[in-house]
Amino acid sequence: MEATLRARWELLRARVDDACRAAGRSPGDVEVLPVSKTFGPDLIRQAVDLGLRRFGENKVQEIKDKYEPLADCGIDWVMIGHLQTNKAGVVARLAAEVQSVDRSRLAATLDRHLRAEGRVMDVLVQVKTSDEPSKYGLDPGRLLPFLDELAGYPSLRVRGLMTLAINTDNPDAVRGCFRRLRELRDDAVARGHDLPRLSMGMSGDFPLAIAEGATEVRIGTALFGARPHPDSFYWPENG
Ligand SMILES: *Cc1c(COP(=O)(O)O)cnc(C)c1O
Repeated sequence: MEATLRARWELLRARVDDACRAAGRSPGDVEVLPVSKTFGPDLIRQAVDLGLRRFGENKVQEIKDKYEPLADCGIDWVMIGHLQTNKAGVVARLAAEVQSVDRSRLAATLDRHLRAEGRVMDVLVQVKTSDEPSKYGLDPGRLLPFLDELAGYPSLRVRGLMTLAINTDNPDAVRGCFRRLRELRDDAVARGHDLPRLSMGMSGDFPLAIAEGATEVRIGTALFGARPHPDSFYWPENG
C-alpha cells in the first residue's frame, strides 16, 4: 500500500512539474495540496511518512474526526469546502488555513473566533468563476470591495484567491475559469492588494490551471485514488 501511495505521489509530482515546464514556469513554482477527504487516518499517516504535512478537507466534521488520531503528525489542516458560519469556531481552533472565505458574515465570524483564540490565519477568497447557478464563491464583481473589507479583520491574513472551475469536459471553458481568476488577481494586485497565491486546479484539470498561473493545485483522486462516494456526494447542489 505504501509503495503504491509513494509511486502515485512521485508520478503526480512529475506530472505537475511537466505541466510547469510546458507552461514555461519552473517546477518548484507550484505546490500540491493533497485532498484527503473521505480517507481515514491510516492512509493520511502514510502520506505524512512521504513528507506531506498539509491536507485539504471539505467538511468541518472530517477535520474534527481526524484531528485527534493524527495529532502527533504536525498536520496543517486546510479547509477547502463550503464553510457554514456556525462552524467557524471549530475551524478557528483546528484548521491552519481556510481557502473558502466567500462572504462577509463568515469573515467577521471567523475573525472573531480567531481573536478569541489569539490566532492569525492565512485565508484565500473563494471566487465564483463559472456561471453555474449554485456553486459557492464570491461574485467576481464584489471582489475589490470584499478585499477592502477583509483588510479590517486583523486575524485574517488574505494571501490569495481560490476557485473551482466549471464542471464540464470542455477544456476551453475550464481554462476560462482559471484565466478569470488570474485576471481578477492581477487587477486586485494593481490596486494594491497583496495576493501571491492562486489555488486552482484538481486531478482532472490541473495542467490547465498551471498554464494560467496556479501556485497550488488541490489533488485528491490522482494521489489517494477514487473516493468511496461520487462527487455529487460532496457537491450535492450539482447533483
Ligand atoms: C475534492 C476537492 C478537490 C480534489 O478533487 P480531485 O478531483 O479528487 O483531485 C479539490 N478542491 C475541492 C474544493 C474539493 O472539494
